[in-house]
Amino acid sequence: MYKIDKEKCLGCGGCTITCPKGLNIGDDSRAQVIDEEELIRAGGDNVCPYGAIVLEDDEIIDEEDEEEKSSY
Ligand code: SF4
Repeated sequence: MYKIDKEKCLGCGGCTITCPKGLNIGDDSRAQVIDEEELIRAGGDNVCPYGAIVLEDDEIIDEEDEEEKSSY
């Protein structure tokens, strides 16, 4: 799952130009992910030149665990 590292995000808005359906600038003047599928299509973490878009592997593992549990 992609997240914005609020410490690294400059609020420049570059990512919202590259991927307007996937990201916008929130009330905190930092980017926020609004549609992860769109963000993935646009290039995922490559959309931000400052490394502020990060992929959080832990949550993907958690989701896989939940899928396994629900299949029993
Ligand atoms: S995520 Fe990157 S490109 Fe988007 S506003 Fe923040 S610093 Fe700019």
